[in-house]
Amino acid sequence: MNLTDFRPRSRLVTKVTTIARPRFPVFDAHNHLAEPFGGGWDQKPLAALLDLLDQAGVVKYVDLDGGWGEEVLYRHLDLFKAKAPDRFQVFGGVDWSQWQTLGHRFPDWATERLVAQKAAGAQGLKIWKPFGLEVKDERGLLVKVDDPRLKPLWTAAGELGLPVMIHVADPVAFFDPIDETNERWEELGSHPEWAFTSPPYPGFLDILTDFLHLVKSHPATTFIGAHVGCYAENLGWVGAMLDECPNYAIDLSARLGELGRQPYSARRFLIQYQDRVLFGSDLGPDPDAYRLAYRFLETDDEYFNYNLSEVPGQGRWYVHGLHLPDEVLQKLYFGNASRLLGG
Ligand SMILES: [Zn+2]
Repeated sequence: MNLTDFRPRSRLVTKVTTIARPRFPVFDAHNHLAEPFGGGWDQKPLAALLDLLDQAGVVKYVDLDGGWGEEVLYRHLDLFKAKAPDRFQVFGGVDWSQWQTLGHRFPDWATERLVAQKAAGAQGLKIWKPFGLEVKDERGLLVKVDDPRLKPLWTAAGELGLPVMIHVADPVAFFDPIDETNERWEELGSHPEWAFTSPPYPGFLDILTDFLHLVKSHPATTFIGAHVGCYAENLGWVGAMLDECPNYAIDLSARLGELGRQPYSARRFLIQYQDRVLFGSDLGPDPDAYRLAYRFLETDDEYFNYNLSEVPGQGRWYVHGLHLPDEVLQKLYFGNASRLLGG
């Protein structure tokens, strides 16, 4: 048998809690509605989407797909925001490809586009992970996350009241050599395009250090670090950044597997930073994915799969529930997002 065919079934007999609905209404601060992450809901009836969200107890849903481009933003504002304004927020984005053509005029142009996106109804700015990894300026040089030329853009986001949902870097192991010591070896085997082995890519900590500098240098702009502040493997680092930057918050999206394999630290962390953490799924409006996240946050169930797939996608380990207190759950599920994102 090859190791990749190994499918051990746990013979533990422990409590399994079924959570049909979250203990409090949920504001999903990080999700998508189109392909590839949102399940193609730009092609399906809105009533069916609202029905799924109702089933999952999700009362508000941030659609980050407007960050793919302005055409998508305007389409999503029409499809979702215009028809169910209380249920959705759509975030805009930056078209980095224009830096090549516009040269030194790019930062001012991007700032003008952000103003136009806000006027059209965008409620935040989404920055995808190519920023810091692949985005290049007019000379073909990599743009660092704290590049001072972008100051007008970040300042404008603050002045416009648009929170910046930002994802930089990726799991630490994606930057490591792909060998027998890499904890995401299987995942990188099925997604070789996710490898950012350094060099040639910048080092993981170089990107994160630039990120800290970016957030510190723009104290009047709200930044939300996606995926547990882009460093779920090191909650000490994320906590220190939250301590240093009052304008900074994080979301929980797509990191159950990381948090749940360090349940004692994760529970302490979420209680300590209960005012700075937003719930997010990042798995589309999928009720089963939501229920798994609720089980993880609400129960003390032990040793369960953090994915809906048979073999956990991010690594072959299981997780333990965090059984968070009610007042913390309420802030994570709704209060913090409502305060930072509005509505
Ligand atoms: Zn996402």
